[in-house]
Amino acid sequence: MDNNIGKIKQAIIEKINEDRPQLRELSLKIHDNPELGLHEFKACEWLTKYLASRNFVIEREICEMPTAFRATYGKGQPRIGLLAEYDALPGVGHACGHNLICMIALGAAVAAKAAVDQYGGCIVVIGTPAEENYGGKIVMARKGAFSDLDAAMLVHPGSVDVAIAPAIACQQMNVEFFGKAAHASANPDGGINALDAMILSFNNINALRQQIQSTARIHGIITDGGQAANIIPAHSAGEFYVRAADDAYLDELLQKVLNCFISAGLATGARLEYKPDELRYASLKANVTLAQLYLNNMQALGRELRLSESSVPLNVGSTDMGNVSQVTAAIHPVLAVAPKGTSLHTVEFAVAAASEKGIDGLCDAAKAVAMTAADLLSSAEIMQKVRTEFEQGKKQEKK
Ligand SMILES: [Zn+2]
Ligand SMILES: [Zn+2]
Repeated sequence: MDNNIGKIKQAIIEKINEDRPQLRELSLKIHDNPELGLHEFKACEWLTKYLASRNFVIEREICEMPTAFRATYGKGQPRIGLLAEYDALPGVGHACGHNLICMIALGAAVAAKAAVDQYGGCIVVIGTPAEENYGGKIVMARKGAFSDLDAAMLVHPGSVDVAIAPAIACQQMNVEFFGKAAHASANPDGGINALDAMILSFNNINALRQQIQSTARIHGIITDGGQAANIIPAHSAGEFYVRAADDAYLDELLQKVLNCFISAGLATGARLEYKPDELRYASLKANVTLAQLYLNNMQALGRELRLSESSVPLNVGSTDMGNVSQVTAAIHPVLAVAPKGTSLHTVEFAVAAASEKGIDGLCDAAKAVAMTAADLLSSAEIMQKVRTEFEQGKKQEKK
């Protein structure tokens, strides 16, 4: 173990304490200027300017996405990716706290320059747009944006402190039924009821739900249920999300859900048109070695956190960070910035994302991420352990 690592970590802590006013200011500015996914032009401009003025080399519009960017300091391997999100939600603004995520990445990246100067390798901040409404990282992963990274880290605000927070695989399905319009009273036997096909689909899914794994989720809405109560609906449409803890079970479940639609079409005579959304959120495979390093560093800062919440993910969503974890060793810890139990995507959470507790969390997480990057850059042995765990996980999946 290089005994300089202690000094480097101390320098990281001091740098983030020194940068706190700037990190706070930009985080609140982004919070005050919420932008929806793929339209985060101001945030992208401010973040890249911040990094450019601190000697990072900036590439804009990567992966043909106008608000994606890459900012690099150093060269060669290892390449440590710090991922930034900065999109907001309609109506509730930064109710997912992405204004903190991006500043954790920036704070950590700037502080970790000390480790790059000492040990070599590089720190890469990757600006990843539209987590909420599009799955920006799914597209970026397909285009190879993360393939050259040795590790990737993103810390997400929440109401607990935990190093490994699971996220489940998710696939959207868009469904339409085509029937035949008729006067609902004068000529009902001349019609084919597309709305009934949609309602039967919901009932079929409700029956299916009892027999699925407890970690799976199926939920949907009707986006077209007809035009008038006295017309047999000729068309109905709905959007459904199907989620499962792993990708193999998601495939199995998607087929069962499809059968719910097919049988509803048969029962009513309505024709089914179905297409899966082309973007699929993969389940998140946290790198335990990396998570343990992050945990140790957080604990060294005096912050209490656990390695994982529970072995069974029950209160869990999906994230495009899952797709990143399929191509490189990754962690997506959760950082407590709101009272326990506060739900993401609520007004209460948006308030927490701009609170002093939020800024305290930002600084702690930035320190722990930079210290973890320093661990990886300083020790070929630690870096290899992280890589080996990732590669073995991939091999097991193939079996
Ligand atoms: Zn969210
Ligand atoms: Zn989020």
